[in-house]
Amino acid sequence: MGLLVQKYGGTSVATVKRIQAVAEKVARFRQQGHDMVIVVSAMSGETNRLVALAKEIQDNPDPREMDVLLSTGEQVTISLLCMALKMQGCDARSYTGGQVCILTDDAHTKARIKSIDEQRIRADIDKGRIVVVAGFQGTDSNGNITTLGRGGSDTTGVALAAALKADECQIYTDVDGVYTTDPRIVPTASRLDKVTFEEMLEMASLGSKVLQIRAVEFAGKYNVPLRVLHSFQDGPGTLITLNDEECSTMEQPIVSSIAIHCDEAKVTIKGIPDVPGVASKVLSPISDANIEIDVIVQNISADNTTDLTFTVNRSDMAKAQSVINGVSAELGAKDVLTDDSVVKVSIVGVGMRSHAGVASTMFKALAKENINIQMITTSEIKISVIIEERYAELAVRSLHSAFNLDG
Ligand code: ASP
Ligand code: MG
Repeated sequence: MGLLVQKYGGTSVATVKRIQAVAEKVARFRQQGHDMVIVVSAMSGETNRLVALAKEIQDNPDPREMDVLLSTGEQVTISLLCMALKMQGCDARSYTGGQVCILTDDAHTKARIKSIDEQRIRADIDKGRIVVVAGFQGTDSNGNITTLGRGGSDTTGVALAAALKADECQIYTDVDGVYTTDPRIVPTASRLDKVTFEEMLEMASLGSKVLQIRAVEFAGKYNVPLRVLHSFQDGPGTLITLNDEECSTMEQPIVSSIAIHCDEAKVTIKGIPDVPGVASKVLSPISDANIEIDVIVQNISADNTTDLTFTVNRSDMAKAQSVINGVSAELGAKDVLTDDSVVKVSIVGVGMRSHAGVASTMFKALAKENINIQMITTSEIKISVIIEERYAELAVRSLHSAFNLDG
Protein backbone atom coordinates (compact mmCIF):
# COMPACT_ATOMS: atom_id res chain seq x y z
CA MET A 1 0.00 0.00 0.00
CA GLY A 2 1.18 3.46 -0.79
CA LEU A 3 0.64 6.44 -3.02
CA LEU A 4 0.33 5.70 -6.71
CA VAL A 5 0.20 8.20 -9.54
CA GLN A 6 -1.39 6.57 -12.57
CA LYS A 7 -1.54 8.15 -16.00
CA TYR A 8 -4.00 6.92 -18.62
CA GLY A 9 -3.34 7.88 -22.23
CA GLY A 10 -5.79 8.91 -24.93
CA THR A 11 -6.63 5.42 -26.19
CA SER A 12 -7.42 4.32 -22.61
CA VAL A 13 -10.07 7.05 -22.28
CA ALA A 14 -11.19 7.10 -25.92
CA THR A 15 -14.83 6.24 -25.18
CA VAL A 16 -17.26 6.36 -22.26
CA LYS A 17 -16.98 2.56 -21.99
CA ARG A 18 -13.22 2.76 -21.62
CA ILE A 19 -13.47 5.59 -19.10
CA GLN A 20 -15.79 3.33 -17.10
CA ALA A 21 -13.27 0.49 -17.38
CA VAL A 22 -10.50 2.79 -16.14
CA ALA A 23 -12.73 3.82 -13.23
CA GLU A 24 -13.29 0.17 -12.28
CA LYS A 25 -9.58 -0.43 -12.35
CA VAL A 26 -8.77 2.64 -10.27
CA ALA A 27 -11.49 1.71 -7.79
CA ARG A 28 -9.90 -1.73 -7.33
CA PHE A 29 -6.55 -0.12 -6.45
CA ARG A 30 -8.34 2.18 -4.00
CA GLN A 31 -10.09 -0.79 -2.38
CA GLN A 32 -6.70 -2.40 -1.87
CA GLY A 33 -5.85 0.63 0.24
CA HIS A 34 -3.71 2.69 -2.11
CA ASP A 35 -3.90 6.46 -2.21
CA MET A 36 -4.56 7.36 -5.83
CA VAL A 37 -3.78 10.35 -8.02
CA ILE A 38 -4.85 9.92 -11.63
CA VAL A 39 -3.68 11.90 -14.65
CA VAL A 40 -5.53 11.58 -17.94
CA SER A 41 -4.97 12.60 -21.54
CA ALA A 42 -7.69 13.86 -23.84
CA MET A 43 -9.75 11.23 -25.68
CA SER A 44 -7.59 9.91 -28.51
CA GLY A 45 -7.84 12.05 -31.62
CA GLU A 46 -9.26 15.01 -29.68
CA THR A 47 -6.05 17.09 -29.50
CA ASN A 48 -5.51 16.54 -33.24
CA ARG A 49 -9.09 17.61 -33.89
CA LEU A 50 -8.59 20.83 -31.92
CA VAL A 51 -5.29 21.56 -33.72
CA ALA A 52 -7.08 21.14 -37.06
CA LEU A 53 -9.86 23.55 -36.03
CA ALA A 54 -7.31 26.20 -35.13
CA LYS A 55 -5.47 25.74 -38.41
CA GLU A 56 -8.68 26.33 -40.34
CA ILE A 57 -8.53 29.87 -38.97
CA GLN A 58 -4.81 30.64 -38.66
CA ASP A 59 -1.91 28.89 -40.44
CA ASN A 60 0.23 29.47 -37.38
CA PRO A 61 -2.32 29.64 -34.59
CA ASP A 62 -1.71 32.19 -31.85
CA PRO A 63 0.18 30.22 -29.18
CA ARG A 64 -1.65 31.64 -26.18
CA GLU A 65 -5.07 30.94 -27.67
CA MET A 66 -3.87 27.54 -28.87
CA ASP A 67 -3.16 26.57 -25.25
CA VAL A 68 -6.60 27.74 -24.11
CA LEU A 69 -8.05 25.55 -26.86
CA LEU A 70 -5.88 22.44 -26.43
CA SER A 71 -6.26 22.31 -22.66
CA THR A 72 -9.99 21.67 -23.04
CA GLY A 73 -9.49 18.09 -24.25
CA GLU A 74 -8.22 16.95 -20.87
CA GLN A 75 -10.95 18.86 -19.02
CA VAL A 76 -13.51 16.58 -20.66
CA THR A 77 -11.83 13.36 -19.55
CA ILE A 78 -11.11 14.38 -15.93
CA SER A 79 -14.75 15.19 -15.27
CA LEU A 80 -16.09 12.08 -16.98
CA LEU A 81 -13.64 9.88 -15.11
CA CYS A 82 -14.71 11.39 -11.79
CA MET A 83 -18.37 10.75 -12.61
CA ALA A 84 -17.49 7.14 -13.46
CA LEU A 85 -15.53 6.82 -10.20
CA LYS A 86 -18.51 8.08 -8.24
CA MET A 87 -20.59 5.35 -9.88
CA GLN A 88 -18.01 2.92 -8.47
CA GLY A 89 -18.72 4.32 -5.01
CA CYS A 90 -15.48 6.29 -4.83
CA ASP A 91 -15.10 9.85 -3.64
CA ALA A 92 -13.24 11.61 -6.43
CA ARG A 93 -12.46 15.17 -7.54
CA SER A 94 -11.19 16.51 -10.82
CA TYR A 95 -8.82 19.45 -11.25
CA THR A 96 -7.31 21.30 -14.18
CA GLY A 97 -3.55 21.83 -14.11
CA GLY A 98 -3.95 25.42 -12.93
CA GLN A 99 -6.28 24.44 -10.10
CA VAL A 100 -3.61 22.23 -8.53
CA CYS A 101 -0.99 24.94 -9.07
CA ILE A 102 1.12 23.32 -11.78
CA LEU A 103 3.22 26.40 -12.43
CA THR A 104 5.05 26.53 -15.77
CA ASP A 105 7.16 29.02 -17.70
CA ASP A 106 5.35 31.07 -20.33
CA ALA A 107 6.56 29.16 -23.43
CA HIS A 108 3.11 28.52 -24.85
CA THR A 109 2.56 25.09 -26.48
CA LYS A 110 5.86 23.77 -25.10
CA ALA A 111 5.94 25.05 -21.53
CA ARG A 112 8.09 23.51 -18.82
CA ILE A 113 6.89 22.80 -15.31
CA LYS A 114 8.60 24.99 -12.70
CA SER A 115 6.85 23.89 -9.54
CA ILE A 116 3.79 22.14 -8.17
CA ASP A 117 2.06 23.06 -4.93
CA GLU A 118 0.79 19.69 -3.80
CA GLN A 119 -1.15 20.99 -0.74
CA ARG A 120 -4.58 20.82 -2.32
CA ILE A 121 -4.01 17.30 -3.62
CA ARG A 122 -2.72 16.19 -0.22
CA ALA A 123 -5.76 17.62 1.54
CA ASP A 124 -8.05 15.60 -0.74
CA ILE A 125 -6.00 12.44 -0.31
CA ASP A 126 -6.18 12.87 3.46
CA LYS A 127 -9.98 12.96 3.15
CA GLY A 128 -9.85 9.63 1.30
CA ARG A 129 -10.53 11.13 -2.12
CA ILE A 130 -9.15 10.02 -5.45
CA VAL A 131 -7.68 13.07 -7.19
CA VAL A 132 -7.96 13.28 -10.98
CA VAL A 133 -5.73 15.84 -12.68
CA ALA A 134 -5.79 17.04 -16.29
CA GLY A 135 -2.56 16.11 -18.02
CA PHE A 136 -0.50 18.24 -20.39
CA GLN A 137 -1.30 21.65 -18.86
CA GLY A 138 -0.51 24.23 -16.24
CA THR A 139 -0.54 28.00 -15.83
CA ASP A 140 2.25 30.54 -16.01
CA SER A 141 2.97 33.08 -13.26
CA ASN A 142 0.37 35.43 -14.77
CA GLY A 143 -2.35 32.81 -14.70
CA ASN A 144 -2.31 32.13 -18.45
CA ILE A 145 -3.11 28.55 -19.42
CA THR A 146 -0.09 26.72 -20.87
CA THR A 147 0.43 23.28 -22.39
CA LEU A 148 3.50 21.06 -22.20
CA GLY A 149 3.95 19.86 -25.79
CA ARG A 150 2.40 16.83 -27.47
CA GLY A 151 2.45 13.77 -25.26
CA GLY A 152 2.84 16.06 -22.25
CA SER A 153 0.49 14.15 -19.96
CA ASP A 154 3.32 11.71 -19.27
CA THR A 155 5.30 14.63 -17.89
CA THR A 156 2.37 15.77 -15.73
CA GLY A 157 2.21 12.26 -14.25
CA VAL A 158 5.91 12.13 -13.49
CA ALA A 159 5.99 15.67 -12.10
CA LEU A 160 3.06 14.95 -9.76
CA ALA A 161 4.72 11.71 -8.65
CA ALA A 162 7.91 13.64 -7.90
CA ALA A 163 6.10 16.41 -6.00
CA LEU A 164 4.04 13.93 -3.97
CA LYS A 165 6.95 11.52 -3.51
CA ALA A 166 4.71 8.75 -4.83
CA ASP A 167 5.78 5.14 -4.51
CA GLU A 168 5.47 4.65 -8.25
CA CYS A 169 4.36 6.52 -11.35
CA GLN A 170 2.46 4.11 -13.58
CA ILE A 171 1.93 5.01 -17.21
CA TYR A 172 -1.00 3.01 -18.61
CA THR A 173 -1.12 2.80 -22.37
CA ASP A 174 -2.03 0.55 -25.30
CA VAL A 175 1.14 -1.56 -25.13
CA ASP A 176 2.13 -3.81 -22.24
CA GLY A 177 5.60 -2.39 -21.78
CA VAL A 178 8.82 -1.39 -23.48
CA TYR A 179 10.01 -3.88 -26.09
CA THR A 180 13.41 -5.01 -27.35
CA THR A 181 12.36 -3.46 -30.66
CA ASP A 182 9.21 -2.58 -32.59
CA PRO A 183 7.13 -5.81 -32.54
CA ARG A 184 5.55 -4.83 -35.86
CA ILE A 185 8.97 -5.25 -37.46
CA VAL A 186 10.21 -8.17 -35.39
CA PRO A 187 7.39 -10.43 -34.16
CA THR A 188 9.79 -12.17 -31.77
CA ALA A 189 10.53 -8.91 -29.94
CA SER A 190 9.95 -9.29 -26.23
CA ARG A 191 8.92 -7.09 -23.35
CA LEU A 192 11.74 -5.87 -21.12
CA ASP A 193 11.20 -6.28 -17.37
CA LYS A 194 13.51 -3.38 -16.62
CA VAL A 195 15.44 -0.68 -18.43
CA THR A 196 17.52 2.16 -17.04
CA PHE A 197 16.56 5.80 -17.50
CA GLU A 198 19.65 6.25 -19.63
CA GLU A 199 18.63 3.45 -21.98
CA MET A 200 15.05 4.70 -22.08
CA LEU A 201 16.24 8.21 -22.96
CA GLU A 202 18.30 6.84 -25.84
CA MET A 203 15.40 4.69 -26.98
CA ALA A 204 12.95 7.60 -26.84
CA SER A 205 15.28 9.91 -28.75
CA LEU A 206 15.97 7.15 -31.26
CA GLY A 207 12.36 6.72 -32.18
CA SER A 208 10.71 4.50 -29.57
CA LYS A 209 7.45 6.33 -28.89
CA VAL A 210 6.28 4.74 -25.67
CA LEU A 211 7.01 7.73 -23.44
CA GLN A 212 7.44 11.46 -23.95
CA ILE A 213 11.18 12.05 -23.73
CA ARG A 214 10.76 14.91 -21.28
CA ALA A 215 8.91 12.68 -18.90
CA VAL A 216 11.84 10.25 -18.88
CA GLU A 217 14.29 13.10 -18.24
CA PHE A 218 12.14 14.36 -15.41
CA ALA A 219 11.80 10.91 -13.85
CA GLY A 220 15.57 10.36 -14.04
CA LYS A 221 16.31 13.73 -12.50
CA TYR A 222 13.96 13.24 -9.54
CA ASN A 223 14.45 9.50 -9.28
CA VAL A 224 10.77 8.66 -9.75
CA PRO A 225 10.20 4.92 -10.23
CA LEU A 226 8.36 4.74 -13.52
CA ARG A 227 6.44 1.79 -14.94
CA VAL A 228 4.81 1.36 -18.34
CA LEU A 229 1.81 -0.99 -18.37
CA HIS A 230 -1.15 -1.99 -20.53
CA SER A 231 -4.40 -0.30 -19.49
CA PHE A 232 -6.61 -3.32 -19.91
CA GLN A 233 -4.33 -6.36 -19.75
CA ASP A 234 -2.80 -7.57 -16.51
CA GLY A 235 0.96 -7.84 -16.36
CA PRO A 236 4.04 -6.37 -14.70
CA GLY A 237 4.88 -3.97 -17.56
CA THR A 238 8.36 -2.48 -17.77
CA LEU A 239 10.05 -0.76 -14.84
CA ILE A 240 12.33 2.14 -15.69
CA THR A 241 14.91 2.43 -12.99
CA LEU A 242 17.89 4.53 -12.01
CA ASN A 243 19.89 1.55 -10.93
CA ASP A 244 22.40 0.48 -13.58
CA GLU A 245 23.49 -2.59 -11.67
CA GLU A 246 19.98 -3.86 -11.26
CA CYS A 247 19.77 -3.98 -15.06
CA SER A 248 23.21 -5.23 -15.94
CA THR A 249 23.26 -8.44 -13.96
CA MET A 250 25.03 -11.48 -15.42
CA GLU A 251 22.00 -12.76 -17.32
CA GLN A 252 21.20 -9.35 -18.74
CA PRO A 253 22.15 -8.97 -22.40
CA ILE A 254 24.83 -6.48 -23.44
CA VAL A 255 22.46 -4.86 -25.90
CA SER A 256 18.95 -4.48 -24.55
CA SER A 257 17.16 -3.01 -27.54
CA ILE A 258 17.29 -2.08 -31.21
CA ALA A 259 15.83 1.32 -32.05
CA ILE A 260 14.92 2.75 -35.41
CA HIS A 261 14.44 6.34 -36.42
CA CYS A 262 12.80 6.59 -39.83
CA ASP A 263 12.52 10.31 -40.48
CA GLU A 264 16.17 11.04 -41.23
CA ALA A 265 17.57 12.97 -44.18
CA LYS A 266 21.18 13.55 -45.14
CA VAL A 267 22.81 16.76 -46.37
CA THR A 268 26.37 16.81 -47.78
CA ILE A 269 28.42 19.86 -48.64
CA LYS A 270 31.36 18.88 -50.83
CA GLY A 271 34.76 20.41 -51.41
CA ILE A 272 34.91 23.06 -48.71
CA PRO A 273 38.24 24.45 -47.46
CA ASP A 274 39.72 22.41 -44.60
CA VAL A 275 40.59 25.33 -42.32
CA PRO A 276 39.59 26.26 -38.75
CA GLY A 277 36.07 27.66 -38.44
CA VAL A 278 34.52 25.97 -41.44
CA ALA A 279 32.35 23.49 -39.51
CA SER A 280 30.97 26.37 -37.51
CA LYS A 281 30.32 28.41 -40.67
CA VAL A 282 28.35 25.51 -42.13
CA LEU A 283 26.46 24.39 -39.06
CA SER A 284 25.72 27.61 -37.15
CA PRO A 285 23.23 28.88 -39.74
CA ILE A 286 21.48 25.51 -39.48
CA SER A 287 20.95 25.82 -35.76
CA ASP A 288 20.10 29.52 -36.18
CA ALA A 289 17.28 28.32 -38.44
CA ASN A 290 16.07 26.14 -35.53
CA ILE A 291 16.93 22.92 -37.32
CA GLU A 292 18.16 20.10 -35.14
CA ILE A 293 21.25 18.34 -36.41
CA ASP A 294 21.71 14.69 -35.56
CA VAL A 295 24.72 12.76 -36.92
CA ILE A 296 27.72 14.70 -38.28
CA VAL A 297 30.65 13.28 -40.23
CA GLN A 298 33.61 15.12 -41.76
CA ASN A 299 35.96 13.45 -44.23
CA ILE A 300 39.71 13.64 -43.91
CA SER A 301 41.20 16.30 -46.06
CA ALA A 302 42.36 15.81 -49.66
CA ASP A 303 43.97 18.81 -51.42
CA ASN A 304 43.08 20.89 -48.38
CA THR A 305 39.39 20.49 -49.02
CA THR A 306 36.92 18.27 -47.25
CA ASP A 307 33.27 17.13 -47.27
CA LEU A 308 30.86 17.54 -44.39
CA THR A 309 27.72 15.42 -44.05
CA PHE A 310 25.01 15.72 -41.43
CA THR A 311 21.51 14.43 -40.87
CA VAL A 312 18.37 16.32 -39.94
CA ASN A 313 14.73 15.41 -39.52
CA ARG A 314 13.21 14.71 -42.93
CA SER A 315 10.67 17.51 -42.53
CA ASP A 316 13.57 19.98 -42.15
CA MET A 317 15.54 18.83 -45.19
CA ALA A 318 14.31 21.41 -47.68
CA LYS A 319 14.93 24.20 -45.19
CA ALA A 320 18.42 22.82 -44.40
CA GLN A 321 19.23 22.54 -48.09
CA SER A 322 18.40 26.17 -48.77
CA VAL A 323 20.47 27.31 -45.78
CA ILE A 324 23.43 25.24 -47.01
CA ASN A 325 23.05 26.49 -50.58
CA GLY A 326 23.48 29.95 -49.08
CA VAL A 327 26.76 29.21 -47.26
CA SER A 328 28.06 26.98 -50.04
CA ALA A 329 28.59 29.92 -52.40
CA GLU A 330 30.34 31.86 -49.66
CA LEU A 331 32.71 28.94 -48.95
CA GLY A 332 33.29 28.06 -52.58
CA ALA A 333 31.91 24.54 -52.10
CA LYS A 334 31.88 22.16 -55.07
CA ASP A 335 28.44 20.71 -54.53
CA VAL A 336 25.52 20.22 -52.14
CA LEU A 337 23.85 16.80 -52.10
CA THR A 338 20.76 15.63 -50.23
CA ASP A 339 19.19 12.26 -49.62
CA ASP A 340 15.87 11.82 -47.88
CA SER A 341 15.72 8.04 -48.03
CA VAL A 342 17.94 7.14 -45.10
CA VAL A 343 17.14 5.82 -41.64
CA LYS A 344 19.05 5.49 -38.40
CA VAL A 345 19.26 2.10 -36.72
CA SER A 346 20.77 1.88 -33.24
CA ILE A 347 21.72 -0.69 -30.67
CA VAL A 348 21.26 0.42 -27.06
CA GLY A 349 22.41 -1.08 -23.77
CA VAL A 350 24.20 -0.08 -20.57
CA GLY A 351 25.99 -3.43 -20.77
CA MET A 352 28.04 -2.06 -23.69
CA ARG A 353 30.11 0.01 -21.29
CA SER A 354 31.92 -3.03 -20.01
CA HIS A 355 32.09 -5.09 -23.20
CA ALA A 356 34.43 -4.86 -26.15
CA GLY A 357 33.53 -6.10 -29.61
CA VAL A 358 29.96 -4.86 -29.63
CA ALA A 359 30.56 -2.66 -32.68
CA SER A 360 32.18 -5.45 -34.67
CA THR A 361 29.24 -7.76 -33.96
CA MET A 362 26.92 -5.04 -35.23
CA PHE A 363 28.91 -4.33 -38.38
CA LYS A 364 29.35 -8.03 -39.15
CA ALA A 365 25.61 -8.60 -38.91
CA LEU A 366 24.94 -5.74 -41.32
CA ALA A 367 27.67 -6.87 -43.71
CA LYS A 368 26.20 -10.35 -43.81
CA GLU A 369 23.00 -8.83 -45.20
CA ASN A 370 24.95 -6.67 -47.63
CA ILE A 371 23.76 -3.49 -45.96
CA ASN A 372 26.04 -0.53 -46.56
CA ILE A 373 26.77 1.71 -43.57
CA GLN A 374 26.84 5.37 -44.58
CA MET A 375 27.57 7.01 -41.24
CA ILE A 376 28.35 5.81 -37.73
CA THR A 377 27.97 7.51 -34.38
CA THR A 378 28.48 6.15 -30.88
CA SER A 379 27.97 7.02 -27.24
CA GLU A 380 28.86 5.00 -24.14
CA ILE A 381 25.62 3.05 -24.35
CA LYS A 382 24.62 3.12 -28.02
CA ILE A 383 25.90 2.71 -31.56
CA SER A 384 23.89 4.19 -34.42
CA VAL A 385 24.31 3.74 -38.14
CA ILE A 386 22.74 5.61 -41.03
CA ILE A 387 21.68 3.23 -43.81
CA GLU A 388 19.47 3.20 -46.86
CA GLU A 389 15.79 3.26 -46.00
CA ARG A 390 14.91 0.10 -47.93
CA TYR A 391 17.14 -1.96 -45.63
CA ALA A 392 15.60 -0.62 -42.42
CA GLU A 393 13.54 -3.65 -41.44
CA LEU A 394 16.17 -6.14 -42.54
CA ALA A 395 18.77 -4.33 -40.43
CA VAL A 396 16.57 -4.30 -37.34
CA ARG A 397 15.74 -7.99 -37.72
CA SER A 398 19.32 -9.09 -38.23
CA LEU A 399 20.62 -7.01 -35.30
CA HIS A 400 17.83 -8.28 -33.09
CA SER A 401 18.97 -11.82 -33.68
CA ALA A 402 22.73 -11.03 -33.73
CA PHE A 403 22.41 -9.75 -30.17
CA ASN A 404 20.27 -12.70 -29.08
CA LEU A 405 17.14 -10.69 -28.41
CA ASP A 406 14.78 -13.04 -30.28
CA GLY A 407 12.26 -14.32 -27.71
N1 ASP B 1 -3.57 15.25 -25.36
C1 ASP B 1 -2.20 15.64 -25.55
C2 ASP B 1 -1.67 15.06 -26.87
O1 ASP B 1 -2.38 14.39 -27.58
C3 ASP B 1 -1.33 15.25 -24.41
C4 ASP B 1 -1.17 13.77 -24.18
O2 ASP B 1 -1.93 12.96 -24.67
O3 ASP B 1 -0.22 13.39 -23.49
O4 ASP B 1 -0.55 15.30 -27.21
MG1 MG C 1 -0.96 10.90 -25.73
